[in-house]
Amino acid sequence: MAAWTLLITGCGTSHGNPPWGYPQLWSEDPKDLRRRSGAALLGPAGEVILIDCGPDLMQQLRDPWRDWDGVSYPSRCISRCDGLLLTHAHADHSHGLNDLRHLNRLMDGRSIALHGAAEHLQELRRMFPFCFGDREAYYHQGNPALLTVALEPSQGVKLAGLDCTPYPLSHGPAGLVYAWRLGPQAGYITDAKTLPESTREAFRGLDLLVVNMLQERSHVSHLNWEECQDLLADLQPRRAVLTHMGYSVRWADWQQRLPAHVEMAYDGWHGSFDV
Ligand SMILES: [Zn+2]
Ligand SMILES: [Zn+2]
Repeated sequence: MAAWTLLITGCGTSHGNPPWGYPQLWSEDPKDLRRRSGAALLGPAGEVILIDCGPDLMQQLRDPWRDWDGVSYPSRCISRCDGLLLTHAHADHSHGLNDLRHLNRLMDGRSIALHGAAEHLQELRRMFPFCFGDREAYYHQGNPALLTVALEPSQGVKLAGLDCTPYPLSHGPAGLVYAWRLGPQAGYITDAKTLPESTREAFRGLDLLVVNMLQERSHVSHLNWEECQDLLADLQPRRAVLTHMGYSVRWADWQQRLPAHVEMAYDGWHGSFDV
């Protein structure tokens, strides 16, 4: 049983945190300085699977552990991608798509496959046609070389030896999102408002669960703290990590108030899971 690492490369909400221009909302705590949400799954032999490709992707690939001191350390960067798991096509989860081209270069021109729901992949093709064109004509102009693999709900795919399976959830009025089961013991849920029972079933009793939690007060398309607690009471993960947090959720305040098995993410948070 080989352990993989789940690395949170960003845990902020759609506009990132903290919001500039509002001194009263600012935070000096580096743990509150959040990139848009995303994660990297790191395998025992150097495998890398990305979850989402938001607008901060270049920073997330260059400095995934959030420890950059201005020097380029190849071993600390992400320099390959064995597949990308897409949760949905909202800007904060997909608008860094063009930055994948540098990974294509580092991988000697090999294509990167994006896995997700057909409607989300179609949306990316519509927004970024130059990333999906004829490979010879496009890649050699410096554009990304990407493929799309549409998956039905609960249709798993094995990437670099890791079983990755999408399950549908509701983002409220914003529609469908895919949550991802990562092997038998880990899961990644973001931008959830409600989860159908069939999806809850697939995420119960995991060792490691990442779940979105926006803020204290309720929101039309994201779980707030009360709803998140209800979900965790049902899913009973051994270890839960909160992500996609708003500016009002300050790490130092919240870390103290959470139950022992629930943690705040920060950019660079990482935990291991068995496969
Ligand atoms: Zn989002
Ligand atoms: Zn969203």
